[in-house]
Amino acid sequence: MAEETIFSKIINREIPADIVYEDDIALAFKDINPQAPVHLLIIPKKPIATINDIEEEDADIVGHLYIVAAKLAVQHGFAKDGYRCVMNCNEHGGQTVYHIHLHLLAGKPMGWPPY
Ligand code: C5P
Repeated sequence: MAEETIFSKIINREIPADIVYEDDIALAFKDINPQAPVHLLIIPKKPIATINDIEEEDADIVGHLYIVAAKLAVQHGFAKDGYRCVMNCNEHGGQTVYHIHLHLLAGKPMGWPPY
């Protein structure tokens, strides 16, 4: 298990977040520093530090993050226009919080490459 991060505190309601979705496996909330008109973070309740720490037994959990992303895209009305899901890993990936999270970015056309 990963060490507790600020995202565990959000899951446990020890610090506030603008939560838009919750189930037994995952939580989604608005990013406090949005990089697009819509910027949500979808996190597993299980604290996995990085993509490198995902085990075979976590496959359903990680898959579920994408199921939640697709649900949120429909609910928020941007499924058809499109959106981007990104998970950063370690320093070169730009990861700052060591509890895996899927960034869901939408509301404008995204550029590529992402740097
Ligand atoms: O991929 P990375 O680890 O850099 O993403 C962390 C994200 O968590 C950032 O986009 C940051 O704005 C967000 N964040 C947040 N609420 C916090 C702390 C960080 O939405 N309390």
